[in-house]
Amino acid sequence: MNFNEIKALDEGYVLQTYGRNQIAIDHGKGATLWDAGGKEYIDFTSGIGVCSLGYANETWARAVYDQAMKVGHISNLFYTEPYARLASKLVPAAGMSAVFFGNSGAEANEGMIKLARKYSYEKYGEGRAAIITLKNSFHGRTITTLKATGQDHFHEFFFPFTEGFRYAEANNMDSLLAAAGDDVCGVMMELIQGEGGVNPLEADYVRAVAELCAEKDWLLLIDEVQTGVGRTGTLFAYQQFGVQPDVATFAKGIAGGLPFGGFMVNEKCRNVLRAGDHGSTFGGNPVAAAAANVVLDTLSPDFLENVKEKGQYLRNGIAALKSSYVSGIRGMGLMIGVGVQGMSHRELKDRLMDEGLLCLTAGADTLRLLPPLVISKEEIERGLEIMARVMK
Ligand SMILES: *Cc1c(COP(=O)(O)O)cnc(C)c1O
Repeated sequence: MNFNEIKALDEGYVLQTYGRNQIAIDHGKGATLWDAGGKEYIDFTSGIGVCSLGYANETWARAVYDQAMKVGHISNLFYTEPYARLASKLVPAAGMSAVFFGNSGAEANEGMIKLARKYSYEKYGEGRAAIITLKNSFHGRTITTLKATGQDHFHEFFFPFTEGFRYAEANNMDSLLAAAGDDVCGVMMELIQGEGGVNPLEADYVRAVAELCAEKDWLLLIDEVQTGVGRTGTLFAYQQFGVQPDVATFAKGIAGGLPFGGFMVNEKCRNVLRAGDHGSTFGGNPVAAAAANVVLDTLSPDFLENVKEKGQYLRNGIAALKSSYVSGIRGMGLMIGVGVQGMSHRELKDRLMDEGLLCLTAGADTLRLLPPLVISKEEIERGLEIMARVMK
C-alpha cells in the first residue's frame, strides 16, 4: 500500500486521536527508517524512546522468534523462564528488591499508586492516600494517571477523576511543603520531565525530596517510564541523582519495541501487594520478556558509557550549529531537549522531517530527541547535517 491508501484506511476506520506525521513508516535498520514511498530518514525518535536497540536488530528478532516458537503466551498462573530471568537481572542492577511486570507506562504507574496507598493504609489506616506530583509532569492516559499528571488541560472532559492528587512546582521545596499534609502517602515524579519539555530536576532538590519522604514515611515514587532502561546513560536515571526510590516504574524502552512495563519496589515495600491484590493478563508475557532480556543484556557498563558519549556528541553538534532557532539544550544521555525560538517546535519538526530527520516535540517549545541507544556516530552526523541545512 502507498501512503495515501494507508491514510485512507486510517481515516476511514481508526479513531482520529493522534496528530500524526504525514508519512507511513515501512521498515528500518539501526537508527535509519524508510517510509512507504522508499524515502530514507535518520530516526531521533525510536518510537518515543521505545526501540532502544533500533530497528531489525538480529539478536532481538531472533529471541522474539525463538520464544514465539516455544510458547507465545501463557497466563501468570504458570511460571515461565523469560520473565524470571529478566527479574533476576533487572532487580539487583536497579538496587531494588522485587518487580511486578505489566504492559505499559500508565499501567505501571497505576500499580505504583495502588502500592503506595496500600502501604499507607496498612500502616496508618484510612485518610492517608494523597500523592503529591509535580507541575508539568506526565504520568499516563488512564483516569488515575491523567489526574496524577500535573497539567490542567489533562483534567478535562473525563470526570469524575480519581481523587487524592496535589501538585507542587518542580525544583521548589517550599511548594512541596505547601502541598504537604497528614493525608499524604507519597511523592511521585519524573527525574527528567519528558513530555513536559525535557526538563531535568536539580539533583539537590531530588535529594531533599528523598530526605523529606524518609522523614515522613512518604513513599518516593519515581516514574522512569521514559528515563529508564539506559536512556540517560545509566540503567535508571535515579542512579545519577544519588537517590534510591521506594518504588520505580519503567516501560517504553524495556523490551525494545514490544509492549512491556512494570514497577520495582525496595525491601520496605516488598510485601505490600500480595496474592489477589494486583495482576495483569499479559504482564510478564514470555515473548516480551525474551525481548527485554536481550535489551538488558545489551546494556553493559561500556554500552551505557557510550550512550553518555553519543549524547554529549549530539548536544555538542547542535550547539556548534550556533542556530538562531536554538534557545537552549537540555537533557542527559540520549534524552535531549532543544528549546526552539523564532519558529514553532512543530514547524521545525516538520521541516526536519521533509529533509529526512525524524524528531519529536515536547512541552510548548521543545524539540525532543530520543534516538535508538544503538545509533551510530555516522547516523548522528547525518542527522546533524540535516539540522544544519534546516536550522542555520
Ligand atoms: C510515556 C510515559 C507514560 C505513559 O506510558 P504509556 O506506555 O503510554 O502508558 C508515563 N510516564 C512517563 C514519564 C512517560 O513518558
